[in-house]
Amino acid sequence: MIGPKQKRKVVVGVFAHPDDEAFGPGGSLAKFAKTDDVYVICATRGEAGMNHQPEKNVKLSAIRENELLESAKILGVKKVYFLDFADGTLCNNLYHQLAEKIELLLRRLRPEILITFEPRGISGHIDHVTISLVTTFVFEKLSFIKKLLYYCIVEKQRQRLTNYFIYFPPGYRLTEVDFVNDVAEEWATKVKAMFTHASQIKDVKRILKRHQGLPKHEHFLMKVK
Ligand SMILES: [Zn+2]
Repeated sequence: MIGPKQKRKVVVGVFAHPDDEAFGPGGSLAKFAKTDDVYVICATRGEAGMNHQPEKNVKLSAIRENELLESAKILGVKKVYFLDFADGTLCNNLYHQLAEKIELLLRRLRPEILITFEPRGISGHIDHVTISLVTTFVFEKLSFIKKLLYYCIVEKQRQRLTNYFIYFPPGYRLTEVDFVNDVAEEWATKVKAMFTHASQIKDVKRILKRHQGLPKHEHFLMKVK
């Protein structure tokens, strides 16, 4: 018997750079996209990142913009919104400009669920930390958003990482995690989306190594209204 058709929810992922969506909660975005309308907001075009596959005369910002659009298509994201901030500049100075732009979009999209990075920004990247803070601020402000999911990594994943070039915060204990999303079915889609970020191929390999042999789970802290 077919049950009553459930209304599609709106789910919005708020990130700092192209690749955050796939390297982070890509499996969950793909899983939501099966039943809900998923959108991605990306604050920058990632132009400060490394380019492992340089093409002559093509700006890294354009390459990374296209990589995100391709990744989003694979994950089933309906639309990507770029906020046009410069990569590596997100900070307190821009806090309210960033919040205003995100709020404006969210008032149009009216999501029930938001997804962003946990407050330590996974890797401690200041852009990630800022995005997490600002998204939390907007979440608290807009009553129609009912749930905020903070993508995080757990100790077992963090332990795989050695000699990172900056301080990388610890992973979360499983007892601290509020929501474990089984994305085994979406894993191949996530990996495919990750590989669209060809300019960041070293990170793709590093992150896949972090997940090797572990259950295909994505972990979240959660705030609910
Ligand atoms: Zn990032």
